[in-house]
Amino acid sequence: MEKIKEITKGKAKSLFTTNNDAHLIMHFSDDTSAFDGKKKEALLGKGSVNNQFNAFIMKHLEEKGVETHMVEVINNNDSLVHKLEMFPIECVIRNRASGSICRRLGTEDGLILEQPLFEFFLKDDDLGDPLINDEHILSFGWATKEQIDEMKVLTYKVNTILSKLFIDSGLILVDFKVEFGVSGTKILLADEFTPDGCRLWDSETLMKMDKDRFRQGLGDVVESYHQVADRLGMNINT
Ligand code: C5P
Repeated sequence: MEKIKEITKGKAKSLFTTNNDAHLIMHFSDDTSAFDGKKKEALLGKGSVNNQFNAFIMKHLEEKGVETHMVEVINNNDSLVHKLEMFPIECVIRNRASGSICRRLGTEDGLILEQPLFEFFLKDDDLGDPLINDEHILSFGWATKEQIDEMKVLTYKVNTILSKLFIDSGLILVDFKVEFGVSGTKILLADEFTPDGCRLWDSETLMKMDKDRFRQGLGDVVESYHQVADRLGMNINT
């Protein structure tokens, strides 16, 4: 399977058409960015670890009954995925307060929430991905009521499955972002699940082992991603 034409170039990933209309190639690069692109760096080996990390997590979710866009890993940095019609929406679940919610509500970092908190954000870099709610999605026609409900159910399911996977390896899933798309009438989990898009803390020391190491200049970013992968028993090719 070969890349034909780049159709989207994100901050850390690109999508390419293939000779099969139903499939795309998702390429994970070493590029890393934060604060709406204001901080940027290429971190050697990050694309490779993220591609393989994502494949492991997507496979685990599939085994637990969450359908995803993954087809197969092609090489260290590329995976074949189903082409979907994407919702312009990010679905976030927080188990503890960290990041933007602390700035928004003045909450202490790490506060354990009474129950997992679901939030929608609009995918729009120029606007800084603003917080939105169900009413915005319905009024602007970004998804139907049924699709909103299903995205919520699926995101809570991902939270339950992955919180267990991580805590069994000594890691707290603090929060994460996922995206969904439509194939025919089905809603599939799309995009990626990697330490770039979630917060993972060591359950004993609360050390940050995710992209916050880059955002906060803590160093050892790729090394931490590898440590998380090792704890989960992944075999990452370098
Ligand atoms: O920035 P915020 O605290 O709202 O992020 C919540 C979670 O969603 C974090 O794990 C963050 O890495 C992830 N996220 C993401 N992509 C975005 C916004 C947030 O992966 N555009």
